[in-house]
Amino acid sequence: MKSILFIFAKRYIAGTDRRDAIEAAERLNSSGILAAIDHLGENIKTKEEAKETVAEYLSLLEEIKASGVNAAVSLKLTHLGLDISQDLSVENAAVIIERAHHYNNTVWFDMESSAYTQRTIDAYIRLRPRFPNIGIAIQSYLKRSEADVKLLISKGASVRLVKGAYKEPPGIAFKDKKDVDENFERLMKMMLASGNMTAIATHDERLINEAKMFAKEKKIPRASFEFEMLLGIKRSLQKSLADEGYQVRTYIPYGKDWLPYTMRRLKERKENIYFVVRNIFD
Ligand SMILES: Cc1cc2nc3c(=O)[nH]c(=O)nc-3n(C[C@H](O)[C@H](O)[C@H](O)COP(=O)(O)OP(=O)(O)OC[C@H]3O[C@@H](n4cnc5c(N)ncnc54)[C@H](O)[C@@H]3O)c2cc1C
Repeated sequence: MKSILFIFAKRYIAGTDRRDAIEAAERLNSSGILAAIDHLGENIKTKEEAKETVAEYLSLLEEIKASGVNAAVSLKLTHLGLDISQDLSVENAAVIIERAHHYNNTVWFDMESSAYTQRTIDAYIRLRPRFPNIGIAIQSYLKRSEADVKLLISKGASVRLVKGAYKEPPGIAFKDKKDVDENFERLMKMMLASGNMTAIATHDERLINEAKMFAKEKKIPRASFEFEMLLGIKRSLQKSLADEGYQVRTYIPYGKDWLPYTMRRLKERKENIYFVVRNIFD
C-alpha cells in the first residue's frame, strides 16, 4: 500500500532529498515562478528530532543561498517540538528565522490542525517584533479566522490565506464548501485592503479571478500580494499567472516523512482516491 501511495505522492513532492527541492525550485524559477520549500515532517516527539529539523532547515537555507534560487522556506511548529513545549518550538523557529533574515529570506509558518491554531498564532506574534521576515497561514474553514486576521493585520503580519486541510468539528469550522469559499473571499479582501503582504494560496480559479479584479479596482500594488499553489496542482495556471506579470509561488515539499502530507492531498479530491484504488487493483 505504501508503495502505491508513493506513486501518488510523487506528483506532489519534489523527492526525499533537499537537492530534489532545490532542483524543482530552479525549474520553476526558470519559468518565472518563485518557490517556498517545506521540509516534510510533523508532530515529532523528542528534542533530538527537533534539533535535526533545525539542522536540516539551516542546511536548506545555505543551499538556497549557494544555488541562487529564489525560494522562501515553510515550516510546521510541531516539526520543531511544539508537542514538547511552546518555548522549545519558538526557540527552534527563531534559530531558523534568524539565519533566513541574515540571508534576506522569508519563513512561512504553516497552520496545522485547530489543536495548534492559538499556539501557532501566539508564537508568530512573539517572534514578529524581532523578525519582519515571517508570515503565517490562516485557514478560511475556521470560524475564528476573521478575528485572527483582524489581529494579525494590526500586528503588520504577512498572511498566507488557505482553505484548510485538516478534519475539524462543525462547532469550530465551516462544513459547507460554499461557506469556506465565501469566508476565503472575505478574508482575502480584508488582507488585500490592509496593504499587508497577502499570499492567496488556492487553486480555486473563481477566487483567483476575484482577487485579480479586486486588486485592480482598489489599485492594490502587485508587489503586496502573490498567488501560491502546491507543487503538482494546476501547473498551467501557475505559469499563465506568472506570464501575466503576477507574483506566483509554488510550495515545494520534500523529505522522507511524506505520508501525512500525501494523505491530506489524497483526501481533498475524490479523483485522487479513485487513482489510488485503481492502482491497488491494477
Ligand atoms: C501554498 C499553500 C500552502 C498551504 N498551506 C496550508 C497550511 O498551512 N495549512 C492547511 O491546512 N492547508 C494548507 N494548504 C492546503 C489548503 O488548505 C487546501 O487544502 C488546498 O489548497 C486545496 O484547496 P483549494 O484552495 O485549492 O480549493 P479547492 O476548492 O479544494 O480546489 C480548487 C481546485 O483545485 C484543484 N485541486 C485542489 N486540491 C487538489 C489536489 N489535492 N489534487 C489535484 N487537484 C486539486 C481541483 O481542480 C479543485 O477543483 C496550502 C495550500 C497552498 C496552495
